[in-house]
Amino acid sequence: MQPMGLFGGTFDPIHYGHLRTAFELWQAVGLEEVRFLPTGDPPHRDAPLADAALRIAMVRAAIADQPAFVVDDRETRREGRSYSVDTLVELRREFPDRSLCLLLGMDAFLGLPTWHRWRELPELAHIVVAHRPGWKAPTTGPLGELMVDRGTGGVRDLHAARAGRIFIHAVTQLEISSTDLRDLIVDGRDPRYLVPDVVRDMLRASGCYARGQR
Ligand code: ATP
Repeated sequence: MQPMGLFGGTFDPIHYGHLRTAFELWQAVGLEEVRFLPTGDPPHRDAPLADAALRIAMVRAAIADQPAFVVDDRETRREGRSYSVDTLVELRREFPDRSLCLLLGMDAFLGLPTWHRWRELPELAHIVVAHRPGWKAPTTGPLGELMVDRGTGGVRDLHAARAGRIFIHAVTQLEISSTDLRDLIVDGRDPRYLVPDVVRDMLRASGCYARGQR
């Protein structure tokens, strides 16, 4: 039973920090596929600047040459607020016997207790956390307890059960964020080598994030 990786994000825009992390987790965990799930209306933050169609098109273009990577646009088609728990409930129904792994950066993991119905998430999927620059694994509070109850150091546990374990894995640290990319583009600077060339071309063609477009 090879697990399916679920990588949610605003992807406003997608960058090499996302892509390299997904790739390293795909290899390290032995995931069958990684599904990129661009958010619709994210509950924790301001609405994305790029519309969903462009964010999806950029993700699609960025992963086109990696057959194990796919886009799932269900959250952008959903009316109203988009919650990860709803997505996981749907995917669990569609794949009742599959191991599902929710892939998160450490910053996202540390914010987990603020997510809607977050206690249900480990019941629905494993949680695989990528170390991100400057972030430490929690040892106290609700996430510290979660680590004690559910933490594992072995990917075999992610294959043996459908859900329930937390696995923390160090990935190559690329200090790239979509926020910094948007700021850089507003300043008229070039995002080359921070995003795939095809994404850079799409950003240029759309004028997205450039001054006057905000
Ligand atoms: P923003 O700056 O707009 O908050 P972001 O760059 O953090 O965006 P998101 O789309 O919000 O990107 O992140 C999606 C997921 O990717 C999250 O789990 C986040 O932790 C992870 N992630 C984002 N950037 C990196 C990076 N450079 N390295 C590893 N993981 C990352």
